[in-house]
Amino acid sequence: MPEETRGRRWRRRLWRLLKWGTAAFLLVGGALMFEMWTAFGQPPKGEHLARIQQSPRYIEGRFRNALRRYDHMWDAARRWVKGGPNREPDAPPPIERRQASDYATPPASGLRITWFGHSSMLIEIDGVRLLTDPVWGKRASPSRLGGPARFHEPPMALEDLPALDAVVISHDHYDHLDWPTITRLLARDVRFITPLGVGAHLQYWGVPAERITELDWWGQAQVGAVTLHCTPARHFSGRFLGGTDQTLWASWAMVGPDHRAYFSGDGAMSPDFAVIGERLGPFDVTLMESGAYDPAWADVHMGPEQAVEAHRALRGRVLMPVHWGTFNLALHGWTEPVERLLAAAKPLGVPVVVPKPGGWFEPDAPPALVRWWPELPWQPASETPIVSSGLAQALPAPDGVAVAVSE
Ligand SMILES: [Zn+2]
Ligand SMILES: [Zn+2]
Repeated sequence: MPEETRGRRWRRRLWRLLKWGTAAFLLVGGALMFEMWTAFGQPPKGEHLARIQQSPRYIEGRFRNALRRYDHMWDAARRWVKGGPNREPDAPPPIERRQASDYATPPASGLRITWFGHSSMLIEIDGVRLLTDPVWGKRASPSRLGGPARFHEPPMALEDLPALDAVVISHDHYDHLDWPTITRLLARDVRFITPLGVGAHLQYWGVPAERITELDWWGQAQVGAVTLHCTPARHFSGRFLGGTDQTLWASWAMVGPDHRAYFSGDGAMSPDFAVIGERLGPFDVTLMESGAYDPAWADVHMGPEQAVEAHRALRGRVLMPVHWGTFNLALHGWTEPVERLLAAAKPLGVPVVVPKPGGWFEPDAPPALVRWWPELPWQPASETPIVSSGLAQALPAPDGVAVAVSE
């Protein structure tokens, strides 16, 4: 019966293929999980979770924004497949190298910002040194093998940074909280100040609990003469394992006796900026998230035009765009954030400072604008407007407490 024999033979082959295919899939998947395991961090447990459960923002097992969040990911996926020009630079953008001796002289005015790229900054304010969202790793990713790679080298060796008073984290996304960088900072006797729950990752990676301060929105911590205020942001969190929104996201207001600085972290436009400006402003400088936006996710990233609007609501003086120029995390051209931000700021007379990665400045004497990035075509706001939802009907949340619940 040759027919039956052939049929059986095919079934046997198919079965073998399925068996080996599954085994290979599990093996490769397992190896990848093993490679990324530590970087995933650890969901909050014990004391971290107990603190979280006290928060009015932690509702039915996850943190919530005051405003709803709409995503249009199918639309974005379609455009992602189509691809776009200039999403990454052809050659590494220029950087300004910094060295340890640069910091031997304190800032003349008392406030100096060094931008290391993306949201990594050294903020020297009224005698205190704060390092924000340090990412010295090669990729904004849990894996060393894949994920968005940096456009440029870190402008300074992490070990060459001067003595730090605190490392300040905005939230636990990979482009803000980098496991390899945190482990390299362990040798320093430095404290970490984070939103609720983020300390669980730090502790898992070896930071002693007594060196971690976790805050809810409107909580504060004293660092030398500077009061650090954990302020609201409209965003989300997660590192794959442990689910999303299990740790809090935040922006930070740094209030010293002579100077005030504001760091937006990540987030969409919201009425909170006006509340923060009213309570804690005016700010000598605002460090505003300006890149990685898309109309499809306008409720988690504000984009350049709303960054200018937020800066004004915050009562900021000098604006520096951050969260651009280092990683390709969206679909826009890599120079588009700064072009659009400058276009939006100009008619309003907002002073903007755009240092090279590694560049520094004192907001009391902002340097003239030097275009160090290439002239590339970009889409203006009129073509791809970024407008966060729910703003027309939104009222400032009393004390930042959630007034509406996202799904
Ligand atoms: Zn983020
Ligand atoms: Zn980010």
